[in-house]
Formats: sequence, structure tokens, C-alpha cells
Amino acid sequence: MSLGETKADWEVAIVGGGVGGLTLALALHHFGLKATVYEARPRLSEAGAGLWISANAMQVFKRLDLSQDIVDAGFEINTIDLRDYKSGTLKKLDLLPLREKYGHCIIAVKRATLCSLLADALERRSGTAVKFGHSCRSITVRDKKISILFGSYQGCNAITGAEVYTDVDTISVDCLVGADGLRSAVRGHLFPDCQSVYAGQSSWRKIVHGALDADLKRTSVEIWGKGKRFGFSQIAENEVYWYATVDAPSAVQPKHRLLALEGGPPRIFQDFPPVVQYLINSPPLEPEVHTDIFDLRPLPQWYQGPIVLLGDAAHATTPNMGQGAAQAVEDAYVLAQSLAQSHRRGGTLEQAFAQYQATRKRKADTVVRKSNTFGRMAHLKSGIWREFRNAVIRMTPNDVDMREIDHLYKLNF
Ligand SMILES: Cc1cc2nc3c(=O)[nH]c(=O)nc-3n(C[C@H](O)[C@H](O)[C@H](O)COP(=O)(O)OP(=O)(O)OC[C@H]3O[C@@H](n4cnc5c(N)ncnc54)[C@H](O)[C@@H]3O)c2cc1C
Repeated sequence: MSLGETKADWEVAIVGGGVGGLTLALALHHFGLKATVYEARPRLSEAGAGLWISANAMQVFKRLDLSQDIVDAGFEINTIDLRDYKSGTLKKLDLLPLREKYGHCIIAVKRATLCSLLADALERRSGTAVKFGHSCRSITVRDKKISILFGSYQGCNAITGAEVYTDVDTISVDCLVGADGLRSAVRGHLFPDCQSVYAGQSSWRKIVHGALDADLKRTSVEIWGKGKRFGFSQIAENEVYWYATVDAPSAVQPKHRLLALEGGPPRIFQDFPPVVQYLINSPPLEPEVHTDIFDLRPLPQWYQGPIVLLGDAAHATTPNMGQGAAQAVEDAYVLAQSLAQSHRRGGTLEQAFAQYQATRKRKADTVVRKSNTFGRMAHLKSGIWREFRNAVIRMTPNDVDMREIDHLYKLNF
């Protein structure tokens, strides 16, 4: 329920216009508070491959009256099919009972489409556009007021390689939300010792022209191999989203890294089933996205003074459970709700942040931990351990897996 237009005493700046930051701005508007989103990139990106938006996030989007737009822009997935690259299906889960319960299963959607849908809705509903080309460069807190300097990225210095920015704006606000992702500048200001941790895996993501066989049309497939895995699903009527991950040393071991990544997916996945080669070689719709995979060790606290973190900035997770964006969306709703409640009762920012953290941290930390374990389990190399793992997965009743998923999809707010 919208509380309508109330004059907010708190001026809120959101640094980062990704899924988390944009959803927060929409949720704040929903609860009658105002905020401005500052995004480093010069414009909304047109590429960024796909996202599977799971039912927990879709329930939040429903509360914000956005779920139908996302369903219309994406493609519903209602079955999970987990396979071993040699021995075939390990587990097939029908998610339709969860759709009965939660209204949605999983929606596969292009990341760029989702972000522009959220940015458009924000501008339409609140009259506030995202401020692009605003990279947070420095933060100063004095007498409860936060001063933020934004710069615009100009490129790299040809001699030193250092990033060059020109100053574009300095603002003064009461509340700053760091929704600026894995390498958050806001988190760097609050907790300079906190470093992201390389998960030992590198990933590729791509959207290609193509259609899967009818029996796979509404299915997300993930195939596990030795130290690597490959996943895919339909993302639109004639478009397929695929991702691939492989064990690879970090950049501090350049020779070994080069060896692990040499030839990219075509070489690395040549021992996978033919559908994988078909997808790797299908004509691309957008450029391939290649990124290393990181997560964060749980932070003891997500806020300090008038500054708070959200999404990957607070609890970046490996993508193995397909939950990073969904957790950011849950954060966004709870933070907006907590701020609105505290504001209405004449409370403080700190009370709102404490309530937000108490509601969200346990689940988000659990996702980070489980996702990391899941990624290592998926990439097992030893034949004996893989056989043992496969046997356990095959023997586990579907009811047990469905309870795990149900736990993930259930909202506690
Ligand atoms: C291979 C892969 C696959 C994934 N698949 C899924 C999936 O299927 N489902 C799912 O739920 N999650 C998935 N995730 C995770 C998901 O992408 C992230 O968890 C999610 O994007 C986090 O949202 P966010 O808004 O917190 O951060 P981001 O999406 O990273 O957004 C942060 C924004 O902040 C901006 N920014 C950064 N620094 C600054 C600065 N200094 N000043 C201003 N702006 C700044 C960035 O440009 C960016 O737009 C996947 C991740 C990977 C790597």
C-alpha cells in the first residue's frame, strides 16, 4: 500500500543504479520517501546478459506493482534440470507447486531490460531520473550531514594506467545508501579493510539467437563437469541465455590462468553434450560478458552512522544459487520499509538500519555461504567424489529439495 506523498525530512542518496539501487528508489517512493539514484555509468547499459529472477524477488516486485511488467519482458521458467556432463540427469524439479503458492516461479530476463524497466518506472512514478555519469569519488561526514563528491570517468592515464575522473557534482544529504556492487566505494569508505574474495572461478555469459527443444522450453538446465559447469535457458521466444564457469587461478598467476582460460568456452566445454556446443556456436545477440567470480566474507555490520549498504555492496555472493539480485531486491524493500516506519514514528536512521539488518542479514549471509559451497560441489574434479555427490543428489527425495527452495522463496517481512 502506498502511503502517498509525504514531505521527507531525510534526503536520501543512493549510489549505484543496478537492480538493488533502482528497486530501493522505487520502494522508497512506494512508502512515501524520496531519493535520488547516482550511477557511475554514462547511460543504461544495453548489454549484460541474463538474470534468473526467482520467486522471492518476484513477490517484492508484485508488492511494488512491477511483477507483471517483468513477466511480460521476460520468460517464465518452471523446471530445474541438473545434470552431470557424462551420466545425465541428477535431479529434475517441477517448480509449478511453488507458483501456486507464491504467484511466480523464475523469470529469465535480460539484465539491461530489467534495469531500464525499473529506471523508466522510477522516472514515471516519482518524476526523478537516474543521474548517470556520477561516480562516487569521496564521502565526508560532518555533523550528521554527508557530503558526496561525484566524478565522471574520462578513461585511463596512458602512462600510469590510473583512472581519470573530472568532478561533476558535490551533494549534501542526510542518508547515503551504498548500492554500488561488489567493488563498492561506499563500503570502502565504511570498512576499508573488507576485501572481496576470488572464488577461484571465471565465468562467461551470453545471449544467443536460438530456440531450445519443446521439452526444455521452460527449463533451466545446469550441467556439471570436472572443474566447470554450463547453464542455459530460454530468455525470449527465439533467444537463449547461457553461462559457463571454469576453475581458474586469479590474475596473480598469469601463466596458469592463461592456460586455464585458453580457447574460452569452445575449447573448455568440448567434452560436454552437443547442446552446449550448439549454444556456444550460436549467433550472439549481445557481446559476451567475461567476469571472475567473487564473494564477500560476512560483514559484522551493514551500516555506520548515516550510511548503509545494500545488495552486493553488503553481501556479494557467488552466482551458484542465482540469488544475488534477488537478495538485493529483498534488501531494497526491507530498507525502504524500515526507513519509512522510523521516519513516521519520529525515529532515527540508525533505528531503521538496525531493523533492516536484523530482518535481512541472516538470510543473505546464509545464501553467500551455501552458494560458495554449492559452487565447489558443482566443480568437483575427483571421480570418486563426483560419483558420491551424484549418488547423494539422485537419492535425495525431491520433497527435501523443494523444502530448501521454499525456504529461499519465503519472505520474512
Ligand atoms: C555470472 C553471474 C550470474 C548471475 N546470475 C544471477 C541470477 O541469475 N540471478 C540473480 O538473482 N543474481 C545473479 N547474479 C548476481 C547479480 O548479478 C548481483 O547479485 C546483482 O546484480 C547485485 O545487484 P546490486 O544492485 O547490488 O549490484 P550491481 O548490479 O553490481 O549494481 C551496482 C551498480 O553500481 C554502479 N557503481 C559501481 N561503483 C559506483 C560508484 N563508485 N558510483 C556510482 N555508481 C557505482 C555500477 O555501475 C552498477 O550499475 C549473477 C552474477 C554473476 C557474476
